Amino acid sequence: MRIDEVLNQSPPYVDVNLYDSDQPLQDAVAANGGERDASALSGFGRHWGTAEMFDLARAANEHSPELKAFDAKGFRRDAIEFHPAYHQLMTESVGAGLAASTWRDDATPAHAPAQVLRAARFYMVAQIETGHLCPLTMTHAAVAALGLERELAVKLMPKIMSRRYDARLRPWWEKRGITLGMGMTEKQGGTDVRTNTTRAEPAGNGYAISGHKWFMSAPMCDAFLVLAQAPGGLTCFLMPRFRPDGAVNGLHFQRLKDKLGNRSNASSEVEFVDAFAWRVGEEGRGVRTIINMVQLTRLDCAIASAGIMRMALAQAVHHARYRSVFQKHLVEQPMMRTVLADLSLEVEAATALVMRLARSFDLASSDPREAARARLLTPAVKYWVCKTAPGVIGEAMECLGGNGYVEESLLPRLYREAPVNAIWEGSGNVMCLDVLRAVGREREAAREVLAALAEETADLSGARAAHVVVERAFSADNPEADARAAVDRLAHLATAAALGQSAGHEIANLFARSRLENRHGAIYGTSEIAPEEARRLIDRALSPA
Ligand SMILES: Cc1cc2nc3c(=O)[nH]c(=O)nc-3n(C[C@H](O)[C@H](O)[C@H](O)COP(=O)(O)OP(=O)(O)OC[C@H]3O[C@@H](n4cnc5c(N)ncnc54)[C@H](O)[C@@H]3O)c2cc1C
Repeated sequence: MRIDEVLNQSPPYVDVNLYDSDQPLQDAVAANGGERDASALSGFGRHWGTAEMFDLARAANEHSPELKAFDAKGFRRDAIEFHPAYHQLMTESVGAGLAASTWRDDATPAHAPAQVLRAARFYMVAQIETGHLCPLTMTHAAVAALGLERELAVKLMPKIMSRRYDARLRPWWEKRGITLGMGMTEKQGGTDVRTNTTRAEPAGNGYAISGHKWFMSAPMCDAFLVLAQAPGGLTCFLMPRFRPDGAVNGLHFQRLKDKLGNRSNASSEVEFVDAFAWRVGEEGRGVRTIINMVQLTRLDCAIASAGIMRMALAQAVHHARYRSVFQKHLVEQPMMRTVLADLSLEVEAATALVMRLARSFDLASSDPREAARARLLTPAVKYWVCKTAPGVIGEAMECLGGNGYVEESLLPRLYREAPVNAIWEGSGNVMCLDVLRAVGREREAAREVLAALAEETADLSGARAAHVVVERAFSADNPEADARAAVDRLAHLATAAALGQSAGHEIANLFARSRLENRHGAIYGTSEIAPEEARRLIDRALSPA
């Protein structure tokens, strides 16, 4: 044997088709109306799974963006410098429609299955690189709020819809395509936006805004939806980087956050100094206006978390198929098999759930029941899927042993990325409060959603009992203390229902048996999964080569 020969290691997990190798994704797309686009999605999965795309993602994260606040003479620049790999990823994703493919030119929703098809692409891209998805999510979601201001929407939509990424710091009307960000969070309050101190005074054709934002991601976007206190109360505004007369607007970036993960994405602290902005929606209805956007960003948080879990799982299964320990491939060792099967079940469940939720968004404008389903389940899905990611990725990392802990394996980046989706766009408790709010405000609609879930899960183990727990918790006098338990069950019921539609009864019941009837512990590999069930789950998770 040569001294430099490498034995018993898995080959690099690159040049894989992210769609064709993922049976749960294919089934979830088909079950939610996207079957006819399978061939386009397969081409997309092949492209994004190439070694070149993995490498772009590595480079974009190794070379984090930098703030260039001033030039040599002390004049403000307020520019963010990114590695070329980041710009390449943006070009690809904008070109694929991730920023706007679910909209029409007039800011009304595109026909089904636009959401499901975008969700499938978003899920695949998230497996490769998540940081650059932040401005794409915000651009996509901001249209939901912008649509309230027809005149503004008509002007901006052609640039949003263009599918051309233009990184230049220029006024939006000179650019081939634009992206939009969002600034709500201030030092004294993120969740509690009513404590916002940023002020807006009517000025000319718009408002002059002064104040600060403690987190404002993707600061190189061309305009931002921001909340500020106008004379009539907390109001939503659109603040462009350039004023209508072409002068640079008063957005002064203070610094970029030094974050646990999400390193290819820039997240800024910013002061607004008499910054020009247009009002979006009525004065005093800022939360109402921006909530339209937030529902969509929450959907994306859940899709991205499902995507990064899927990549971690794929790496684990791939490695276990090649690595031999005690004369057997790891994937054949009974205990490892249970771990991989349990992880496969969790990831398949998350995938089915987010695709089913995307379907609700697709149908919401034509079907009030689906609108109610999206309203009630979006925070529950965001809560459960995003909270699941760190545990799944940590366990998948362990399947690779020491290699998993090493930066080049990709698992550390996925692991660092995992918590942020649970924190931003509303943290765990806030999601549960939002579910309670939806139940409280639209009691009859919520009851109908629960009834539909009960029907869809009627023949699944433990579903009936879970349903009773959820109903009881939601009708309690003081439901907050038990809200996490109730929302957890609600999300599990919705998952079992989604699995029944995409993966079939056997897998849906396996999920229900291990997650509803026998409460799953915090550790993967503890579910009772028969050998034949394990084989099926793992083969579905990553098609054998
Ligand atoms: C990397 C990153 C990028 C970000 N980018 C942006 C951006 O672009 N734009 C933007 O506006 N914001 C952004 N944020 C901010 C993010 O949305 C907030 O941090 C998040 O919403 C939580 O708000 P907070 O930090 O003020 O925490 P708080 O609101 O103080 O919450 C702290 C904790 O208390 C819990 N909590 C809050 N209220 C209750 C309650 N009533 N009962 C029980 N528990 C409660 C929360 O769940 C949370 O766990 C970003 C954050 C991060 C980490």
